[in-house]
This record gives sequence, structure tokens and C-alpha cells, in this order.
Amino acid sequence: MKLKSPNIQEFYRRFPDDDACLDHLMETRYGMESDCPKCERETKWYRVRKEPSYACEWCGWHIHPMAGTPFERTRTPLQMWFHVMFMFTTTRNGVSGKEIQRQLGVTYKTAWRMGHEIRKYMGWVDGNPQIGGPTGNVVEVDEVFIGGRDKQGHDDKTVVMGMLERGGDVVTRVVKDRRMFTLVPEILRYVRQGSRVATDELGSYKLLPEEGYAHGTINHRAGEYVRGPVHTNTIESYWAWLRRGISGTHVWVSEKHLPKYLGEFEFRFNLRKHPHLMFDLLLSSFSRPSRAVRREP
Ligand SMILES: [Zn+2]
Repeated sequence: MKLKSPNIQEFYRRFPDDDACLDHLMETRYGMESDCPKCERETKWYRVRKEPSYACEWCGWHIHPMAGTPFERTRTPLQMWFHVMFMFTTTRNGVSGKEIQRQLGVTYKTAWRMGHEIRKYMGWVDGNPQIGGPTGNVVEVDEVFIGGRDKQGHDDKTVVMGMLERGGDVVTRVVKDRRMFTLVPEILRYVRQGSRVATDELGSYKLLPEEGYAHGTINHRAGEYVRGPVHTNTIESYWAWLRRGISGTHVWVSEKHLPKYLGEFEFRFNLRKHPHLMFDLLLSSFSRPSRAVRREP
């Protein structure tokens, strides 16, 4: 049985207001009962009135659970941020600024900014772990051109390189070209040595065996698409989904912002078997700052 994502009613039951969201942040980042970084005694943290912070019951030290998160220093209510994160984890093809604007009743500028902050954060949570390995599945490596024309009508496509372990994770990167010295270092960084790697006939990959990979190629130009385990069909499906998501949801994505969209789609793909966990994973992944922000009461 596939567990489904929560629906919006469940979301509002769980987070009925900003205070509930702040409590959640405090609980997941610090714990409502934990050692005070100032007096080092175990304390229950008390919510400070009219301020988004919690105080130590012994020494009055304040913890601001929003510090170091995308919500810090915004006037947008916390519940709206949570709502947008919820949207991002329950969509299949992405969330447009217009859609955020419509659902939340904020300005387009605010909606756009929120979307970008959350995309950046999703990419950070997804991280870029290494894939493949001698006992792993075949890793398909391929490149795609994303984009179209800039405002002056010039061709403005960006090269994106992808490495996808079948049945596993995908890693995608914006790269400056398709040359060997650009593509191979990315493979060395993200694909474990000893992996079986499938690519098309692009010459940039021909030295992969010397770098410790078992390399199989198919020759698209000769009309060849699958030879046993050697094919790039999985990553090509990923490209189709990414393109649909980007061009279907957003009018225009510039090269500068493209990495954020790539991170967003990687997050969704890499958690595809656990859609019910996406939202909670996002909510629980804010790293705890090394030193609590001090505010005098
Ligand atoms: Zn204290």
C-alpha cells in the first residue's frame, strides 16, 4: 500500500495558527525541555509573550527558533510559510508564484520570494549524496538543454547534467558545457568508483573506464536505444518530467535560478517512494545553530 500525502484539512488541524507552527519549530530544533545553553541547567522553555521566542525558566535566556531558517526576518506569518512548504511537498509538477499568490492572498513579489526560499531549502535538505558503487545499480548519465530564449530573443539554453542510479537517487547539476573536463569531474564527485555507468555515445565519457567505472554506451545516432542493461531511458524520463514541471508551471526560468528548481525536483524524485514523509522531513530538517541567538529579556 502506498501511503499518501496528508491533505490540507489535516494540515490545518495540525497547524491551526502561527503559535502552533512556532511550537513545532521549537520542538524539532531544540526540544521544549532541554539544557539551556546559557546556564546549562535542564529547563522547560516558556513561550515569551508577543515575541517569537522561548525563555529558560532559570536564567531567562531566549531562544528564537526561527533563527537560521528561511522564515527569519520576514513579515510573512509562519503559518503561510508552512502552507507553502505543504504545497511544495504535495504537488507533482511544482508550484508557481501565481499559485502561491492565489492561495495565500500575498503579493506576487512575496509569493515569488517564498517559492525561491523553499526551493533552496528543499535542495539543501536533499543534499547530494554519492550514488552507485560496485554493488549498486546501473547509473545513467546524460545531459539536457533547459530553457529557451532570453528577453532579447537570443537562444539561452542551459546545459544540465544528470546522474541517476536506477531505483535510487538522482543528482543534477548546471554545467557550462558538455566537454570531458566539465562532465567527468562531476561524475567523480557524485558517482562512486566501481559503478556501472551507462551513457550515450558522447565522446566526453570515453575515458570513464580509466577513472574506474564500468562504462557501457549506446549509440543514439545509429538508432540504438537499449542494449541489455545499457540504456539511458530512466534519466530521459526524468528529463521529460523536469521539463514538464518547469515549462508547465513557470513561464520563464533563468540560468541563475535554475539550480534551485533542480534541487526542488531532486528532492521530490528522491523521496518519491515516501510522499507521506516529504512534508515532515522538510519541517524537521532545519539544522540547529551551533550557538543560540542571545536576546536579553
Ligand atoms: Zn538558562
